[in-house]
Amino acid sequence: MKTNQIKDLSRLCIHTITTKPFNIEQAANNYSANGVKGITVWRDALQNRNIKQTGEMLRQHNLSVVSLCRGGFFPGKEQKKRQEAIEDNRRAIEEAFELGTNLIVLVCGADPSQSLEDSRKQICDGISTILPEAKAAGIKLAIEPLHPMYADTRSAINTLAQANDMTEALNSPWVGVAVDVYHLWWDPNLESEIERCGKNNALLAFHVCDWKSPTVDFLNDRGLMGEGCIPIKKIRSWVEATGFNGFIEVEIFSNSYWKQDQAMFLKNIVKAYQENV
Ligand code: ZN
Repeated sequence: MKTNQIKDLSRLCIHTITTKPFNIEQAANNYSANGVKGITVWRDALQNRNIKQTGEMLRQHNLSVVSLCRGGFFPGKEQKKRQEAIEDNRRAIEEAFELGTNLIVLVCGADPSQSLEDSRKQICDGISTILPEAKAAGIKLAIEPLHPMYADTRSAINTLAQANDMTEALNSPWVGVAVDVYHLWWDPNLESEIERCGKNNALLAFHVCDWKSPTVDFLNDRGLMGEGCIPIKKIRSWVEATGFNGFIEVEIFSNSYWKQDQAMFLKNIVKAYQENV
């Protein structure tokens, strides 16, 4: 029945950063009480926590730990910076293992003092360096292409085609892609690249929010689903046409929503998910 389908929350996951003012215990209590079934944990939410016990606490709240955010930031003109990134990604793999998730999302990074091509090469080298550890821990790595407005410092991977190219070059079942509507909605090749990603069995995660118009802050002004101009339902249909049936993850960075009462905001997220995803 249609009514039941739209009320179904079995695939709703929320990123801890979406409700940043909540600590992870508050997030677990509130998500669970509102029928949310999945949680993606940002690493800052684990500070000063026993990670293994935190993972158990989340599962006791009937929450699947969908992924850990985030690894990546591989590029650096200096070798030292690149080596530090490798060490940090190794820590992320350990954290993901302790937490009991099997996916790490990679915000791949970029260094504005070198070319995007150099940054991409270093991203590819970085992922291939940590791949053996990821595989040994049973953890997949999802390359998340970021909107080109972040190509200076956050990611030299800006289209799904580039993420698919890199996934194919790395050619490992432990590497795939995270599709985030905020970063990719504008791309005229999105439908065909989602299809390509699906054919590679590489579509590992699906993130949703909305693009507000106007957007007043390029990082922290994401909208609730239905509040902006992203054709979320259409993109979801392309994602699901590949056979993807995993969690649909709400990832919103918003200075204005973080100022609101988070319990009320959470109710609005659930409503927006039911109506506009
Ligand atoms: Zn995302």
